[in-house]
Amino acid sequence: MGLGPVSEPEAADVVVLNSCVVRQSSEDKVVGMLSRLRSQNGDAPDRVLALMGCMVGPNTTTLEKRFPQVDVFMRPQEYRPLLEIVGERTGIDPEGCLGNLTARAAVTAFVPIIHGCDKFCTFCIIPYRRGREVSRSVSELVHEAEMLGKRGVKEITLLGQNVDSYGHDLEERTDLADLLEAVSEVHSIQRIRFLTSHPNDMSDRIIDRVAGLEKVCEHINLPFQAGDDDVLSRMRRGYTSDEYRRLVDKIRERVPGVSLSTDLIVGFCGETDEQFERTLDMLRDVRFDKVHSAAYSTRKGTIADRKLEDDVPLAEKKARLKAVDDLQATIQTETNRKLLDRTFDVLLEGTTRGKIHGRNRNDKLVYVNEGTIGEVVQVRIAETSPWSLQGTLISQADRRNGAEVATAQPQVPQA
Ligand code: SF4
Repeated sequence: MGLGPVSEPEAADVVVLNSCVVRQSSEDKVVGMLSRLRSQNGDAPDRVLALMGCMVGPNTTTLEKRFPQVDVFMRPQEYRPLLEIVGERTGIDPEGCLGNLTARAAVTAFVPIIHGCDKFCTFCIIPYRRGREVSRSVSELVHEAEMLGKRGVKEITLLGQNVDSYGHDLEERTDLADLLEAVSEVHSIQRIRFLTSHPNDMSDRIIDRVAGLEKVCEHINLPFQAGDDDVLSRMRRGYTSDEYRRLVDKIRERVPGVSLSTDLIVGFCGETDEQFERTLDMLRDVRFDKVHSAAYSTRKGTIADRKLEDDVPLAEKKARLKAVDDLQATIQTETNRKLLDRTFDVLLEGTTRGKIHGRNRNDKLVYVNEGTIGEVVQVRIAETSPWSLQGTLISQADRRNGAEVATAQPQVPQA
Protein backbone atom coordinates (compact mmCIF):
# COMPACT_ATOMS: atom_id res chain seq x y z
CA MET A 1 0.00 0.00 0.00
CA GLY A 2 3.00 2.24 -0.49
CA LEU A 3 4.14 1.97 3.12
CA GLY A 4 7.69 1.19 4.18
CA PRO A 5 9.29 0.51 7.56
CA VAL A 6 10.77 3.20 9.81
CA SER A 7 13.06 2.64 12.76
CA GLU A 8 10.97 4.31 15.50
CA PRO A 9 7.21 4.10 16.12
CA GLU A 10 7.20 7.86 16.71
CA ALA A 11 8.18 8.39 13.05
CA ALA A 12 5.55 6.05 11.63
CA ASP A 13 2.31 6.83 9.83
CA VAL A 14 0.93 3.46 10.88
CA VAL A 15 1.71 1.82 14.22
CA VAL A 16 0.47 -1.67 15.10
CA LEU A 17 0.88 -2.90 18.66
CA ASN A 18 0.56 -6.67 18.85
CA SER A 19 -0.30 -7.38 22.46
CA CYS A 20 0.18 -10.34 24.78
CA VAL A 21 -1.53 -10.57 28.15
CA VAL A 22 -0.16 -13.83 29.53
CA ARG A 23 2.09 -11.86 31.89
CA GLN A 24 1.16 -8.60 33.61
CA SER A 25 4.51 -7.09 32.57
CA SER A 26 3.69 -7.62 28.86
CA GLU A 27 0.37 -5.87 29.23
CA ASP A 28 2.02 -3.01 31.16
CA LYS A 29 4.46 -2.49 28.28
CA VAL A 30 1.63 -2.14 25.77
CA VAL A 31 -0.23 0.30 28.02
CA GLY A 32 3.00 2.31 28.49
CA MET A 33 3.58 2.47 24.74
CA LEU A 34 -0.04 3.50 24.12
CA SER A 35 0.25 6.43 26.52
CA ARG A 36 3.60 7.47 25.01
CA LEU A 37 2.06 7.49 21.56
CA ARG A 38 -1.00 9.36 22.87
CA SER A 39 1.11 12.16 24.28
CA GLN A 40 2.63 12.65 20.82
CA ASN A 41 -0.68 12.48 18.98
CA GLY A 42 -0.66 16.25 18.49
CA ASP A 43 2.50 15.83 16.38
CA ALA A 44 0.95 13.13 14.22
CA PRO A 45 -2.81 13.66 13.93
CA ASP A 46 -3.06 11.44 10.82
CA ARG A 47 -1.20 8.52 12.28
CA VAL A 48 -3.13 5.23 12.33
CA LEU A 49 -2.74 3.47 15.64
CA ALA A 50 -3.88 -0.15 15.78
CA LEU A 51 -4.04 -2.45 18.79
CA MET A 52 -4.25 -6.17 18.11
CA GLY A 53 -3.60 -9.44 19.93
CA CYS A 54 -4.78 -10.90 23.22
CA MET A 55 -5.69 -7.57 24.82
CA VAL A 56 -8.55 -7.23 22.34
CA GLY A 57 -11.61 -9.29 23.25
CA PRO A 58 -14.93 -9.63 21.40
CA ASN A 59 -16.25 -6.47 23.07
CA THR A 60 -14.01 -3.41 22.71
CA THR A 61 -16.22 -0.81 24.47
CA THR A 62 -14.02 -0.61 27.59
CA LEU A 63 -10.83 -0.50 25.53
CA GLU A 64 -12.26 2.27 23.34
CA LYS A 65 -12.99 4.40 26.43
CA ARG A 66 -9.61 3.66 27.98
CA PHE A 67 -7.55 4.23 24.83
CA PRO A 68 -9.35 6.81 22.65
CA GLN A 69 -6.09 7.35 20.72
CA VAL A 70 -6.45 3.89 19.12
CA ASP A 71 -8.03 3.98 15.65
CA VAL A 72 -8.68 0.28 15.23
CA PHE A 73 -8.87 -2.75 17.54
CA MET A 74 -8.25 -6.21 16.11
CA ARG A 75 -8.49 -9.63 17.70
CA PRO A 76 -5.55 -12.05 17.34
CA GLN A 77 -4.92 -12.96 13.68
CA GLU A 78 -7.26 -10.25 12.44
CA TYR A 79 -5.69 -7.73 10.05
CA ARG A 80 -8.35 -6.76 7.53
CA PRO A 81 -9.75 -3.80 9.58
CA LEU A 82 -6.24 -2.29 9.55
CA LEU A 83 -5.96 -2.63 5.78
CA GLU A 84 -9.36 -1.01 5.42
CA ILE A 85 -8.55 2.00 7.57
CA VAL A 86 -5.18 2.49 5.83
CA GLY A 87 -7.04 2.15 2.53
CA GLU A 88 -9.47 4.89 3.57
CA ARG A 89 -6.65 7.26 4.44
CA THR A 90 -4.48 6.51 1.43
CA GLY A 91 -7.21 5.94 -1.14
CA ILE A 92 -5.64 2.60 -2.07
CA ASP A 93 -7.80 -0.51 -2.43
CA PRO A 94 -6.62 -3.03 0.18
CA GLU A 95 -7.74 -6.03 -1.91
CA GLY A 96 -5.08 -5.39 -4.51
CA CYS A 97 -2.44 -5.22 -1.80
CA LEU A 98 -3.15 -8.52 -0.09
CA GLY A 99 -1.05 -10.32 -2.68
CA ASN A 100 1.97 -8.09 -1.90
CA LEU A 101 1.53 -8.67 1.78
CA THR A 102 1.54 -12.42 1.49
CA ALA A 103 4.00 -12.76 -1.40
CA ARG A 104 6.78 -12.20 1.10
CA ALA A 105 5.65 -15.02 3.38
CA ALA A 106 8.42 -16.65 5.37
CA VAL A 107 9.59 -20.25 5.15
CA THR A 108 7.62 -21.14 8.27
CA ALA A 109 4.19 -19.98 9.40
CA PHE A 110 1.90 -20.28 12.38
CA VAL A 111 -1.66 -21.40 11.78
CA PRO A 112 -4.07 -20.93 14.71
CA ILE A 113 -6.42 -23.92 14.78
CA ILE A 114 -8.23 -23.36 18.06
CA HIS A 115 -8.78 -20.15 20.02
CA GLY A 116 -9.34 -19.88 23.78
CA CYS A 117 -9.07 -22.47 26.52
CA ASP A 118 -11.56 -24.36 28.70
CA LYS A 119 -9.10 -25.48 31.36
CA PHE A 120 -9.08 -22.61 33.88
CA CYS A 121 -5.73 -23.38 35.50
CA THR A 122 -5.79 -21.21 38.62
CA PHE A 123 -2.83 -19.02 37.60
CA CYS A 124 -3.91 -18.34 34.02
CA ILE A 125 -5.76 -15.38 32.51
CA ILE A 126 -6.20 -16.91 29.02
CA PRO A 127 -9.71 -18.41 29.44
CA TYR A 128 -10.99 -15.01 30.63
CA ARG A 129 -9.34 -13.01 27.87
CA ARG A 130 -9.52 -15.42 24.95
CA GLY A 131 -12.76 -17.12 25.96
CA ARG A 132 -13.80 -20.76 25.59
CA GLU A 133 -12.32 -23.09 23.01
CA VAL A 134 -13.44 -22.48 19.45
CA SER A 135 -11.94 -24.69 16.72
CA ARG A 136 -11.64 -23.77 13.07
CA SER A 137 -12.89 -26.31 10.57
CA VAL A 138 -10.58 -28.87 8.97
CA SER A 139 -11.50 -27.67 5.47
CA GLU A 140 -10.70 -24.02 6.30
CA LEU A 141 -7.35 -25.04 7.80
CA VAL A 142 -6.40 -27.27 4.88
CA HIS A 143 -7.25 -24.39 2.54
CA GLU A 144 -5.04 -22.04 4.58
CA ALA A 145 -2.18 -24.56 4.50
CA GLU A 146 -2.55 -24.81 0.71
CA MET A 147 -2.47 -21.02 0.38
CA LEU A 148 0.62 -20.78 2.56
CA GLY A 149 2.29 -23.56 0.58
CA LYS A 150 1.63 -21.66 -2.65
CA ARG A 151 3.39 -18.63 -1.18
CA GLY A 152 6.51 -20.61 -0.39
CA VAL A 153 5.88 -21.67 3.20
CA LYS A 154 7.49 -25.07 3.85
CA GLU A 155 6.66 -25.64 7.49
CA ILE A 156 3.55 -24.83 9.46
CA THR A 157 2.97 -24.90 13.20
CA LEU A 158 -0.62 -25.58 14.21
CA LEU A 159 -1.29 -23.30 17.14
CA GLY A 160 -3.61 -23.26 20.10
CA GLN A 161 -3.50 -22.57 23.82
CA ASN A 162 -4.47 -26.20 24.14
CA VAL A 163 -3.94 -27.61 20.69
CA ASP A 164 -4.65 -31.21 21.76
CA SER A 165 -8.29 -30.45 22.46
CA TYR A 166 -8.82 -29.33 18.85
CA GLY A 167 -12.12 -30.34 17.27
CA HIS A 168 -14.23 -31.34 20.28
CA ASP A 169 -16.52 -28.35 19.71
CA LEU A 170 -17.01 -28.96 15.98
CA GLU A 171 -20.08 -30.60 14.52
CA GLU A 172 -18.01 -32.97 12.40
CA ARG A 173 -16.39 -35.44 14.80
CA THR A 174 -12.71 -34.71 14.49
CA ASP A 175 -9.52 -34.20 16.49
CA LEU A 176 -5.91 -33.09 16.14
CA ALA A 177 -4.92 -36.52 14.82
CA ASP A 178 -7.40 -36.15 11.94
CA LEU A 179 -6.21 -32.62 11.26
CA LEU A 180 -2.56 -33.73 11.15
CA GLU A 181 -3.54 -36.35 8.57
CA ALA A 182 -5.48 -33.84 6.49
CA VAL A 183 -2.71 -31.21 6.51
CA SER A 184 -0.14 -33.90 5.68
CA GLU A 185 -1.94 -34.31 2.36
CA VAL A 186 -1.06 -30.74 1.36
CA HIS A 187 1.70 -31.39 -1.14
CA SER A 188 3.67 -28.14 -0.78
CA ILE A 189 3.93 -28.31 3.01
CA GLN A 190 6.97 -30.35 4.01
CA ARG A 191 6.89 -30.13 7.79
CA ILE A 192 4.15 -29.84 10.40
CA ARG A 193 4.46 -28.99 14.10
CA PHE A 194 1.86 -28.26 16.75
CA LEU A 195 1.90 -26.16 19.91
CA THR A 196 0.98 -26.19 22.88
CA SER A 197 -0.10 -29.55 24.28
CA HIS A 198 -1.84 -30.32 27.56
CA PRO A 199 -0.89 -33.60 29.28
CA ASN A 200 -4.54 -34.50 29.87
CA ASP A 201 -5.50 -34.13 26.22
CA MET A 202 -2.44 -35.73 24.60
CA SER A 203 -4.22 -38.79 23.23
CA ASP A 204 -2.74 -42.02 21.86
CA ARG A 205 -4.12 -41.03 18.47
CA ILE A 206 -2.10 -37.81 18.48
CA ILE A 207 1.07 -39.59 19.63
CA ASP A 208 0.62 -42.20 16.90
CA ARG A 209 0.31 -39.52 14.21
CA VAL A 210 3.57 -37.93 15.39
CA ALA A 211 5.12 -41.37 15.08
CA GLY A 212 3.49 -42.34 11.82
CA LEU A 213 3.08 -39.27 9.65
CA GLU A 214 6.25 -38.42 7.81
CA LYS A 215 5.65 -34.66 7.73
CA VAL A 216 4.87 -34.32 11.42
CA CYS A 217 8.09 -33.41 13.24
CA GLU A 218 9.25 -35.37 16.25
CA HIS A 219 8.94 -32.59 18.79
CA ILE A 220 6.31 -32.03 21.47
CA ASN A 221 5.95 -29.11 23.87
CA LEU A 222 4.32 -30.59 26.96
CA PRO A 223 4.09 -28.17 29.91
CA PHE A 224 4.31 -29.80 33.36
CA GLN A 225 4.29 -26.48 35.29
CA ALA A 226 5.31 -27.99 38.69
CA GLY A 227 6.83 -31.22 39.96
CA ASP A 228 4.85 -31.47 43.20
CA ASP A 229 1.37 -32.95 43.35
CA ASP A 230 -0.01 -30.47 45.89
CA VAL A 231 1.24 -27.54 43.80
CA LEU A 232 -0.23 -29.16 40.67
CA SER A 233 -3.53 -29.53 42.45
CA ARG A 234 -3.48 -25.87 43.60
CA MET A 235 -2.78 -24.96 39.97
CA ARG A 236 -5.73 -27.15 38.98
CA ARG A 237 -3.70 -28.86 36.29
CA GLY A 238 -5.62 -32.13 36.56
CA TYR A 239 -2.69 -34.61 36.60
CA THR A 240 -0.08 -35.83 39.05
CA SER A 241 3.66 -35.83 38.61
CA ASP A 242 3.56 -39.63 38.17
CA GLU A 243 0.92 -39.43 35.47
CA TYR A 244 3.00 -36.86 33.64
CA ARG A 245 6.09 -39.08 33.81
CA ARG A 246 4.13 -42.06 32.51
CA LEU A 247 2.93 -39.97 29.58
CA VAL A 248 6.52 -38.96 28.79
CA ASP A 249 7.58 -42.64 28.88
CA LYS A 250 4.76 -43.54 26.50
CA ILE A 251 5.64 -40.76 24.05
CA ARG A 252 9.31 -41.73 24.05
CA GLU A 253 8.48 -45.37 23.57
CA ARG A 254 6.17 -44.72 20.61
CA VAL A 255 8.14 -41.90 18.99
CA PRO A 256 11.82 -42.86 19.07
CA GLY A 257 14.13 -39.83 18.99
CA VAL A 258 11.35 -37.39 19.94
CA SER A 259 12.46 -34.15 21.57
CA LEU A 260 10.45 -32.72 24.43
CA SER A 261 10.20 -29.17 25.66
CA THR A 262 8.16 -27.92 28.58
CA ASP A 263 6.84 -24.90 30.47
CA LEU A 264 7.12 -24.51 34.23
CA ILE A 265 6.37 -21.96 36.91
CA VAL A 266 8.44 -21.47 40.06
CA GLY A 267 7.21 -19.84 43.28
CA PHE A 268 3.51 -20.55 42.79
CA CYS A 269 1.30 -19.78 45.82
CA GLY A 270 2.40 -21.83 48.83
CA GLU A 271 5.28 -23.61 47.06
CA THR A 272 7.76 -24.73 49.75
CA ASP A 273 11.47 -25.44 49.21
CA GLU A 274 10.73 -29.13 49.30
CA GLN A 275 7.95 -28.83 46.75
CA PHE A 276 10.21 -26.81 44.47
CA GLU A 277 12.84 -29.56 44.72
CA ARG A 278 10.34 -31.86 43.00
CA THR A 279 10.34 -29.53 40.01
CA LEU A 280 14.13 -29.92 39.83
CA ASP A 281 13.67 -33.70 40.17
CA MET A 282 11.36 -33.66 37.17
CA LEU A 283 13.97 -31.79 35.12
CA ARG A 284 16.70 -34.25 36.16
CA ASP A 285 14.52 -37.27 35.40
CA VAL A 286 12.95 -36.25 32.10
CA ARG A 287 15.90 -34.23 30.73
CA PHE A 288 13.90 -31.95 28.44
CA ASP A 289 15.46 -30.50 25.32
CA LYS A 290 14.20 -27.04 26.20
CA VAL A 291 12.44 -25.41 29.16
CA HIS A 292 10.41 -22.21 29.25
CA SER A 293 10.55 -21.14 32.89
CA ALA A 294 8.77 -18.28 34.62
CA ALA A 295 8.49 -16.94 38.15
CA TYR A 296 4.87 -16.81 39.28
CA SER A 297 3.20 -13.43 39.33
CA THR A 298 -0.47 -12.84 40.03
CA ARG A 299 -2.79 -11.99 37.17
CA LYS A 300 -5.83 -10.04 38.32
CA GLY A 301 -9.07 -11.91 37.94
CA THR A 302 -7.64 -15.43 38.00
CA ILE A 303 -8.69 -18.05 40.55
CA ALA A 304 -5.26 -17.83 42.20
CA ASP A 305 -5.68 -14.08 42.55
CA ARG A 306 -9.04 -14.53 44.26
CA LYS A 307 -8.38 -17.59 46.40
CA LEU A 308 -4.66 -18.12 46.98
CA GLU A 309 -1.90 -16.09 48.55
CA ASP A 310 1.12 -15.09 46.46
CA ASP A 311 3.37 -15.78 49.46
CA VAL A 312 6.74 -16.79 48.00
CA PRO A 313 9.08 -13.76 48.29
CA LEU A 314 10.36 -12.32 45.03
CA ALA A 315 14.01 -12.99 45.97
CA GLU A 316 13.13 -16.65 46.54
CA LYS A 317 11.32 -16.87 43.21
CA LYS A 318 14.37 -15.44 41.47
CA ALA A 319 16.66 -17.91 43.24
CA ARG A 320 14.42 -20.81 42.16
CA LEU A 321 14.33 -19.55 38.61
CA LYS A 322 18.12 -19.40 38.58
CA ALA A 323 18.33 -22.94 39.97
CA VAL A 324 16.05 -24.15 37.15
CA ASP A 325 17.98 -22.27 34.47
CA ASP A 326 21.39 -23.46 35.77
CA LEU A 327 20.29 -27.08 35.94
CA GLN A 328 18.69 -26.93 32.52
CA ALA A 329 21.80 -25.32 30.99
CA THR A 330 23.84 -28.28 32.26
CA ILE A 331 21.33 -30.79 30.89
CA GLN A 332 21.20 -29.07 27.49
CA THR A 333 25.00 -28.86 27.35
CA GLU A 334 25.21 -32.62 27.85
CA THR A 335 22.30 -33.49 25.57
CA ASN A 336 23.49 -31.31 22.69
CA ARG A 337 27.09 -32.49 23.01
CA LYS A 338 25.87 -35.96 22.08
CA LEU A 339 24.76 -34.56 18.73
CA LEU A 340 28.32 -33.73 17.70
CA ASP A 341 29.25 -35.28 14.32
CA ARG A 342 25.70 -36.42 13.71
CA THR A 343 23.86 -35.38 10.55
CA PHE A 344 20.38 -33.87 10.42
CA ASP A 345 17.89 -32.62 7.88
CA VAL A 346 17.66 -28.88 8.53
CA LEU A 347 15.09 -26.52 7.03
CA LEU A 348 16.90 -23.20 6.49
CA GLU A 349 14.67 -20.40 7.75
CA GLY A 350 16.58 -17.13 7.67
CA THR A 351 19.73 -15.23 8.61
CA THR A 352 20.86 -13.60 11.84
CA ARG A 353 24.03 -11.53 12.05
CA GLY A 354 25.28 -12.95 8.76
CA LYS A 355 24.67 -16.57 9.72
CA ILE A 356 22.06 -18.80 8.16
CA HIS A 357 19.86 -20.62 10.65
CA GLY A 358 17.27 -23.34 10.53
CA ARG A 359 15.88 -26.14 12.65
CA ASN A 360 16.05 -29.87 12.50
CA ARG A 361 12.96 -32.01 12.94
CA ASN A 362 13.54 -32.04 16.71
CA ASP A 363 13.29 -28.23 16.78
CA LYS A 364 17.00 -27.73 17.49
CA LEU A 365 18.31 -24.39 16.25
CA VAL A 366 21.15 -25.02 13.79
CA TYR A 367 23.52 -22.42 12.27
CA VAL A 368 25.31 -23.02 8.98
CA ASN A 369 27.64 -20.92 6.84
CA GLU A 370 26.05 -21.56 3.46
CA GLY A 371 22.79 -22.72 1.94
CA THR A 372 19.57 -21.46 0.39
CA ILE A 373 16.79 -20.20 2.64
CA GLY A 374 13.71 -22.38 2.24
CA GLU A 375 15.60 -25.57 1.44
CA VAL A 376 15.99 -28.69 3.54
CA VAL A 377 19.70 -29.50 3.67
CA GLN A 378 21.78 -32.13 5.37
CA VAL A 379 24.03 -30.70 8.04
CA ARG A 380 26.77 -32.35 10.06
CA ILE A 381 27.09 -30.89 13.55
CA ALA A 382 30.53 -29.44 14.25
CA GLU A 383 29.95 -27.45 17.44
CA THR A 384 27.34 -27.49 20.16
CA SER A 385 26.18 -25.16 22.92
CA PRO A 386 23.23 -25.50 25.32
CA TRP A 387 21.11 -23.27 23.08
CA SER A 388 22.11 -24.07 19.50
CA LEU A 389 24.17 -26.20 17.14
CA GLN A 390 26.67 -25.15 14.50
CA GLY A 391 27.08 -27.35 11.45
CA THR A 392 28.46 -27.72 7.95
CA LEU A 393 26.54 -28.69 4.86
CA ILE A 394 27.15 -32.21 3.66
CA SER A 395 28.21 -32.35 0.05
CA GLN A 396 26.80 -34.82 -2.46
CA ALA A 397 30.06 -36.76 -2.28
CA ASP A 398 29.77 -37.16 1.48
CA ARG A 399 26.25 -38.39 1.04
CA ARG A 400 27.30 -40.98 -1.50
CA ASN A 401 29.88 -42.15 1.01
CA GLY A 402 27.03 -43.03 3.31
CA ALA A 403 26.90 -40.36 6.04
CA GLU A 404 24.25 -41.21 8.57
CA VAL A 405 21.21 -38.95 8.37
CA ALA A 406 19.60 -38.76 11.75
CA THR A 407 15.99 -38.11 10.92
CA ALA A 408 13.50 -40.11 12.89
CA GLN A 409 11.99 -42.66 10.54
CA PRO A 410 8.22 -42.85 10.23
CA GLN A 411 6.72 -45.63 12.32
CA VAL A 412 3.58 -47.62 11.63
CA PRO A 413 0.89 -46.20 13.91
CA GLN A 414 0.07 -48.45 16.83
CA ALA A 415 -3.49 -49.29 17.73
FE1 SF4 B 1 -3.97 -21.32 30.63
FE2 SF4 B 1 -2.81 -23.40 29.37
FE3 SF4 B 1 -4.18 -23.79 31.66
FE4 SF4 B 1 -5.46 -23.13 29.41
S1 SF4 B 1 -4.30 -25.04 29.79
S2 SF4 B 1 -5.85 -22.26 31.44
S3 SF4 B 1 -4.02 -21.73 28.44
S4 SF4 B 1 -2.27 -22.62 31.40
